[in-house]
Amino acid sequence: MSAASPSTMDDPVLTPDHVRPPALEAKAVSKRFGRSTQALRDVHVSVPQGTIAALVGPNGAGKSTLIRCWVGFESPDAGAVRVLGVDPATDRAGAVERLGYVSQHTGLYRGLSVADHLTLAGTLRRGFDAAEARLRLDQLGIPLGQRAGTLSGGQASQLALCIALGTHAPVLLLDEPLASLDPLARHEFLNLLVAVVRERGATALLSSHIVSDVAAACDGLVVLGGGRVTLQAPIDAALGAHRIAAPGNVDPAIAVATFARPGGELAVLVRSADATLATPSLEELVMGYLAAARSPGTGSGASGPDV
Ligand code: ADP
Repeated sequence: MSAASPSTMDDPVLTPDHVRPPALEAKAVSKRFGRSTQALRDVHVSVPQGTIAALVGPNGAGKSTLIRCWVGFESPDAGAVRVLGVDPATDRAGAVERLGYVSQHTGLYRGLSVADHLTLAGTLRRGFDAAEARLRLDQLGIPLGQRAGTLSGGQASQLALCIALGTHAPVLLLDEPLASLDPLARHEFLNLLVAVVRERGATALLSSHIVSDVAAACDGLVVLGGGRVTLQAPIDAALGAHRIAAPGNVDPAIAVATFARPGGELAVLVRSADATLATPSLEELVMGYLAAARSPGTGSGASGPDV
């Protein structure tokens, strides 16, 4: 996958046969809040149909803003986004009907029961599959009569996911869905999501500030740092194309950045497939690209390589 796939948004006909068409696209998207906060800077993202992508980056990196542009809650100052080819800026309803969205705060009403939420979803969303949602909730042991305000964090997230899945939307956007969940609840949430998305051939994008949370479930990785895409690639390809080197004797042409490994020891992430060097873990890959975004000039890879 390329960080900037220039032809696909304007002219899908030019998309090579072996590349799946994008479900989600952002092209040269910039977004500023007030005078001083540049939340997104010239962001290019393309998530192919039928894949699950992780959108990772620290708090404040711009993840929610980008997701909110696809949902149509924010409008880019420059550039454009598309959901299965539909621009939410000009056809909000068209984009939204292609999307299932789980926000950071789950969007539940504390005083309404689980069943009330399904009824509400049915009135707001044509074709909402309440029977399927009820079945899933039953399998998860979440009682229909329980008020949302009394659900555990994990149950509330599962309810929000069941509602999103009940829309049968071809594209799912999940903004930090795991943030408040314990490890078991995270596991259950991801299992359900991945099983349904794969079975339907749908597309999903999950954001997180913790890479290990989401990456195991994902095919593709998009790293955002300071409002810029610093890395975008299929996860396997990205790991295969990078190595960890010791500082001091690294060719600057292949250095991405120097960063501190979990034990504190300094290491250099390099673009290389040299079999004599260690392959990075996913966390190290992301840390290297976030370090490159923080201090451009320490390496050469901060602008979004094509791996
Ligand atoms: P993330 O989801 O990666 O944590 P966000 O997209 O929420 O990042 O935020 C990116 C930056 O934009 C942050 O500095 C945040 O404070 C700012 N921001 C986001 N939404 C707004 C808003 N509605 N008004 C002002 N600033 C905002």
